[in-house]
Formats: sequence, C-alpha cells, structure tokens
Amino acid sequence: MKAHTDEHERTMAFAEIALGQIKALRQPASPRNFEIWYNYATGYNPSLNQVVNDVLASKGTLTEVDIDEIYATHIASTRFSDRVGSLNSKVMGEIDQIMSMIEAAAGAAGRHTESLADVTSQLGNAKDREGLRTIIESLVATAKEMENNNQTLEARLNASKQEINQLQQSLEVVRNESLTDPLTSLANRKGFDEMFAKAIADATARDEPLSLLLTDIDYFKSFNDTYGHLTGDQVLRLVAMSVKQNVKGQDIAARYGGEEFAVVLPSTALRQAATVGDHIRRAVMSKELMKRSTGEHLGRITISVGVAVLQRGDTPQELIGRADMCLYAAKRNGRNRVICETDPEVMPARQSQVA
Ligand code: GH3
Ligand code: MG
Ligand code: MG
Repeated sequence: MKAHTDEHERTMAFAEIALGQIKALRQPASPRNFEIWYNYATGYNPSLNQVVNDVLASKGTLTEVDIDEIYATHIASTRFSDRVGSLNSKVMGEIDQIMSMIEAAAGAAGRHTESLADVTSQLGNAKDREGLRTIIESLVATAKEMENNNQTLEARLNASKQEINQLQQSLEVVRNESLTDPLTSLANRKGFDEMFAKAIADATARDEPLSLLLTDIDYFKSFNDTYGHLTGDQVLRLVAMSVKQNVKGQDIAARYGGEEFAVVLPSTALRQAATVGDHIRRAVMSKELMKRSTGEHLGRITISVGVAVLQRGDTPQELIGRADMCLYAAKRNGRNRVICETDPEVMPARQSQVA
C-alpha cells in the first residue's frame, strides 16, 4: 500500500512538472507534448533532456516541428526498440527450448543405442525359445519407446516452428511500422532514406534515369496559426492523398519532414518528373478545404515543388540538395509552382552560391 502511494506521488510530481513547463512555455497540452515533458521530468532519457535543453537554449521554446522531431527520435523510436527487444528475447527463448529438446533427444538416442547393443549381445546367449522371446520383446519395447520419443520431439519442433513463424511476422510488422509515418501512412524519413539509397543504386546499375520531387506546403505556418495544428494535420493527410493518387507502382512517396513530401521516380526523366509534380500541385490546389466539425470553409492551399534528376556519381544528399535548390527557387518565384533543374529560375541561386 505504501509503495502504491509512493508511486502515485512520484508520478503526480512528474506530471505536475510536465504541465508546469507546458504552461510556462505556453504550448499546447497535446498528448505528445505532455509525453515529452513527462519524460523530461523523469530524467530517464538523458538524450531527450539534452536535445530539449539545446533547443530551449537556442530558441527559448519548442516549435511544433521540434516536438514532432523529438517525439519521433527520442520517444517513438525507443518504444520500437523496446518492442523489438522483447520480440528478440522471445526468439532467443524459443531457440533455447529447441536446443534443449535436441540435447534431450540426442541423450535418449544414445541410451537406446546402448540398450540395443546390450540386448544384441544377449541374443548370442539365448538358450531357448522363451529366452529368445524375452529378448525380442525387449527389442520391440525399445523401438516403441524410441518411436514415442521421436513423435514427441516432432510435435514440439512443429509447435516451435509455428511460434517462430509468428514471431517473424511480428518483427516484420514492427519493422514496417518503424518505417511508416502514422499520420499519412506514407514512408517516414527513415523509410525514405533506406528506399532512396536502394533506388539510386538500382538506377545506377541499370543505367536508367531517376528523378526526385521535393514538395513543401506554401504558407503553412500561417494556416496552422489561423486554424490550429490539428486542422493542419488533416491538410497534411490531404496533401499525402494527392501525392499517392499521382504516383504509381515503383515510385516512392514519403513524408520527408513536417510539411515536406518527397517522391522518388525511378525510370523517369526530368521533364516527365516535372509533369508528375505538376499533377500533384494541381490536385492539392483543386481541393476546397472544409472543417468537418463545423462546416467552415478554409479556402485552398498550394504547394511548391522542386525537381532534380540523378547524375552519375551523385550521393543521395547531392540529389536532395539540387531538388531543394529548385524548391527554394519555386518559393522565391511566387510559390504554387514546379521548378526543375534546367529552368532559368534556378540560375540566380546557383550563381549567387558560386559567388
Ligand atoms: P513557405 O511557403 O515558405 O514554405 O512558408 P511556411 O509557413 O510553410 O514555412 P515553413 O515551410 O518553414 O513552415 C513550416 C510550418 O509547417 C511550421 C509548422 O507550423 C508547420 N508544420 C510542420 N510540421 C507540421 C505537422 O506535423 N503538423 C502541422 N499541423 N503543421 C506542421
Ligand atoms: Mg517547410
Ligand atoms: Mg512550407
């Protein structure tokens, strides 16, 4: 009872510190934010405390983007590793069981061999029918016992096989979740990084073109400020939907950052990729936004898109850098547009970078 009360007081104290921080920084008391500050108060996750302190020291507050990043890196990922850890220990447990089954079976087989040898040597000494019968009965009993042992072993191995199959499936689910963005169900940054590196290697090996689109929502900060972060999240889903509807089979669509999406287009040259980008841009712009709960009309939003194509020897970072430069040019030239590497609008930025 005492332990129960202590636990109550300890956790309430952490919760109060967390709420105190949220109030002091005038932040939304969203579950994610609360979880970050609760963890911060416990001090159990030193790297989380470090990054929160660093951000506070440089900006004085945590922005929504900071909260998302800290949550993804320091809370969601540890949860995954806990789950992976527990699945791993189940696999190890299963392997231990199989090993001891095999050891037991090997021991039993050894004993049977000895008893067979024993009985065989008695065969030579059998004097009469009765003696022979006893020996044969003993041989049959030994064989029967071995057969039973084998059946038990087989049944146990089958059960283990099923258990391991299930564990494998659970690991696969956890792995997929760790690579997926829960809000949009597109690949997250980690998933993107993995698939992007592979797509570049494939394109290089096959000597095929590969293009990259980077998109960013225009003036999204002011949309969030006006209609709230939760409505902003719904818009992110809508943009993700527009992306999904305009890509096909082998294309890789990902939520690259807070309100930025990336699309990798294998076997696609720059101009075709710019067309895909324009389809996505038009799809986003064509949607009249409405708040479902109130029916309030929220106008439309637009996106800007930068497009670059893989050059031989590019690292993923170099290709992203060029697409980002185009995206920046799209923003600079009025937003709600697609700019690709060969467009003249990109040049001033290039020249000023060289200068
Ligand atoms: P710009 O046209 O120059 O892109 O203007 P912007 O206001 O969109 O500027 P920027 O791209 O720098 O803004 C990012 C904003 O996106 C900050 C934040 O309000 C919003 N944002 C980022 N991630 C999320 C998210 O997960 N959910 C919501 N609702 N908003 C987000
Ligand atoms: Mg942005
Ligand atoms: Mg933006």
